[in-house]
Amino acid sequence: MDNEKLVSCPYCGEEICIEVELFAGKHQTLIEDCPVCCRPIEYDIYIDSDAIITIQCRTEEGTDY
Ligand SMILES: [Zn+2]
Repeated sequence: MDNEKLVSCPYCGEEICIEVELFAGKHQTLIEDCPVCCRPIEYDIYIDSDAIITIQCRTEEGTDY
């Protein structure tokens, strides 16, 4: 199962690989610092019944990306 997704940092645009825990729930939120610019990114992770992962990331100020 492919549980790694590439997302773009909403601050610097760098691509970051996120590892998703498929069994941690259908909707997960996660805050992690960007490894490049070190600013905190909020991730909204959705997993549907076919294990399709959708990730939305935003800045701490709540700007959707
Ligand atoms: Zn960044």
